[in-house]
Amino acid sequence: MSGHLVLLGPPGAGKGTLAKRLSQELGFLHLSTGDVLRAEVAQGTELGRQAKEYMDRGELVPDELILAMVRSRVAGEKKVLFDGFPRTLAQARGLEEFAPVSRVVFLSLAREEVIRRLSSRRVCLQCGALYNLLTQRPREDERCDHCGVKLVQRDDDKPEVIARRYDVYERESAPLVDFYRARGLLVEVDASLPPEEVYQRVRRALS
Ligand code: ADP
Ligand code: ZN
Repeated sequence: MSGHLVLLGPPGAGKGTLAKRLSQELGFLHLSTGDVLRAEVAQGTELGRQAKEYMDRGELVPDELILAMVRSRVAGEKKVLFDGFPRTLAQARGLEEFAPVSRVVFLSLAREEVIRRLSSRRVCLQCGALYNLLTQRPREDERCDHCGVKLVQRDDDKPEVIARRYDVYERESAPLVDFYRARGLLVEVDASLPPEEVYQRVRRALS
């Protein structure tokens, strides 16, 4: 498919894992606003400094900061896969003005499953690889298969923050489902299925 693609869905629905594979196999530029923000925080940039306080609380970074950040990275690109963006109606409307999307995949997942999955998620801070103690187990010593460094739990994957992130999703991001459905762009895929099955269904929906 051509044009830009949006992956929509609650945290823990599997957007990151799916986005990495889709972008490799279909030639999209993978743009994860969460990854970009974490890199900005790690490098101690001004944007990172501003974003960190929101991220640590599980709240959304203000729309203007996100839109400026996305806009500069999308300039000149033909096929971008947006992962974790847009997250509010204002972001979706802003995106329409500089980079209209041609398809939106909505990964649906119930609240209890979101909380269960995020609590068992682990990441490699070196290469960004994602693991899950329930579904995509790392090796026994909980080190990254690629870099061998010890896997960690993200600060915002701690239980109190997870519940907050889900509530923010319901309030701010769930309305995007109707927004894109009304534009005839939405495809819904059940994210509770095994990862390979989810991937195949998304591939079929995009072909
Ligand atoms: P997840 O999808 O697992 O919740 P992300 O890695 O996408 O996590 O995002 C982590 C945090 O970064 C969010 O909780 C939020 O604070 C911030 N963030 C990421 N993308 C956006 C966005 N599009 N708008 C506002 N804040 C964002
Ligand atoms: Zn790694």
